[in-house]
Amino acid sequence: MPQHGNAVYFTFDDGPTPGVTEAVLDLLEAHEAKSTFFVIGKNVEQHPELYQRILAGNHSVGNHTHHHERGWQTPLNDYLTSIEQAAKKVSSALFRPPYGRITRAQVQALKPHYRIVMWDILSYDFDQKQTPEQCAHRVMQKLQPGAIVVFHDSMKAKKNMLPALEACLAYCKKMKFIPMALPMSYHAY
Ligand SMILES: [Zn+2]
Repeated sequence: MPQHGNAVYFTFDDGPTPGVTEAVLDLLEAHEAKSTFFVIGKNVEQHPELYQRILAGNHSVGNHTHHHERGWQTPLNDYLTSIEQAAKKVSSALFRPPYGRITRAQVQALKPHYRIVMWDILSYDFDQKQTPEQCAHRVMQKLQPGAIVVFHDSMKAKKNMLPALEACLAYCKKMKFIPMALPMSYHAY
């Protein structure tokens, strides 16, 4: 993102997940931080109250498809249908492709309607070989104003993500970085 003061952008993929997303929201609230949640449409359908809690906290949301399809293995029309299905629940011009992989044709089809948001820093919180300290250190090493960071509010990532997030939020306070939500409107970019 273009630098806006000391803003940094934490993002959470693959939720909302009961037992995980609540803990993320509590931590963010305790640190007066805002973030962006790239939600899976199916999960929003299954956990509407948790999705509402994200919105009520003034965080941003983005479309992450309905079933977490792999772009490279999904025909264009099926991919777009999945995104449209998720868009019925998720009102946002932000889109992040699952696995960070998307075909040129998919990008071309989405570009007029969505801002495709990748990242600068991957925490690797989903990697079971990593410790929370390693995840936090990886983020802190590269964190600078304008950076977009990926965490996952998933069961698999929980063990690493929650302590790493807490450490990163404390680091932001020390460095005077301000975790903010990405603007959700197309024309904000
Ligand atoms: Zn994902």
